[in-house]
Amino acid sequence: MVDGKYWNEKIETLPREEIRKLQLQKLKEQVKYCYTNSVFYRKKFDRIGLKPEDIQSFDDLRKIPFTVKADLKENYPYGMVAAPSDEIVEIHASSGTTGNQIVGAYTKNDMDIWQELMARSIYTTGGRPQDIIHIAYGYGLFTGGFGFHYGAQKIGARIVPMSGGMTQRQVKLMKDLDVTILACTPSFAVYLSETMLQEGIAPQRDLKLKRGIFGAEPWSQQMRQRIEKDLNLEAFDIYGLTELCGPGVSVECPEHNGLHVWEDHFIVEIIDSNTGEPLPDGQEGELVFTALSKTGLPVLRYRTFDISKITQEKCACGRTHARMLRVTGRSDDMLIIRGVNVFPSQIEFVVMQFPELATQYLIVLDRPGALDTFLVKVELTEQTQKNPQLDLKQLKQNIQQRIHITTGLTAEIEIAKPNELPRTDGKAKRVLDLRKGKM
Ligand SMILES: [Zn+2]
Repeated sequence: MVDGKYWNEKIETLPREEIRKLQLQKLKEQVKYCYTNSVFYRKKFDRIGLKPEDIQSFDDLRKIPFTVKADLKENYPYGMVAAPSDEIVEIHASSGTTGNQIVGAYTKNDMDIWQELMARSIYTTGGRPQDIIHIAYGYGLFTGGFGFHYGAQKIGARIVPMSGGMTQRQVKLMKDLDVTILACTPSFAVYLSETMLQEGIAPQRDLKLKRGIFGAEPWSQQMRQRIEKDLNLEAFDIYGLTELCGPGVSVECPEHNGLHVWEDHFIVEIIDSNTGEPLPDGQEGELVFTALSKTGLPVLRYRTFDISKITQEKCACGRTHARMLRVTGRSDDMLIIRGVNVFPSQIEFVVMQFPELATQYLIVLDRPGALDTFLVKVELTEQTQKNPQLDLKQLKQNIQQRIHITTGLTAEIEIAKPNELPRTDGKAKRVLDLRKGKM
């Protein structure tokens, strides 16, 4: 198993009809489990007269009402737990910005599956026992740090449980400990590469990094190229959310053509965000997941608000599990600026096109009078700053023009000095909306 191409060849290459058969069987059992053990789901089903035995096919799936984030918040902390209280062995929670946090409650079985899926995910990206994995996701309630820790432990790789913060110490340790895999958020990877530059560490010369496994926030293709170049590694995307287990729901394989969703434990659907209607493969919409194996805090048809596409086409890596396209935005991230829909990822797309600019940016919205103000703060790279030929006015104009082409809006541009914009250890803050309460 250790030297093969797959962590679990039988499951990862299971013919699609076998996967579907397994999913349907598990779905029926899971619906029954939820109805029997979760007060929340029993009420939900009873309200519309739905019985577990009504779910007999994949078409029946749509009879099950969606579960949403608000359900978890309203039933905080244990209202949606289905397992007996003494069977819950671990708690995690997501960093909610307002109100109650989203709590994940795990049974021993949930933990075993999570560890298995994280091992499978790291292995899929090429992680092996001889690797040294630097985990710079936060350790704590956030699922990132521990998720990677458990998975790397199962593989038998050497773990550097770094967590966030202390970037200078991080880059020194990456160098001294011969780290080969970096696991963190894409924005923290950028932060680390900037720190390396300041510390005189050249990844190509001084580090043994081979790959990076990045997730927990949407990032663009352009951001990925910058990270791969700056850190001299191959980047892999990983996806998950606390409501489902944490990271390890899906991961990119070396083909880099989407993320394989581990369908032996999850059913993935794409829906129209507005109507809730399921969409066919290849169409862009919102990801919805049903966790097939969870016993602690199970969720059926959970709406993620993450925008993606699904394909069941064969992948050259041999894995048969369906792929989701990398998530580039969330439908609840969408900004409405002067009546126009804008995604932060559109601004990121523009920023990344300018080699003069660092990857950090901040969108500031306000409404001092009747109209929204739309300011985009960008930042020069150290190199650009030193260039005597730099024409700031022209650069500003060019950025403004590209944003106008992309969004149809005229933004005010502010160019900051290198490292002037705030950095974070975890998920990057890209939007500062001061309009709240001024509607
Ligand atoms: Zn593949």
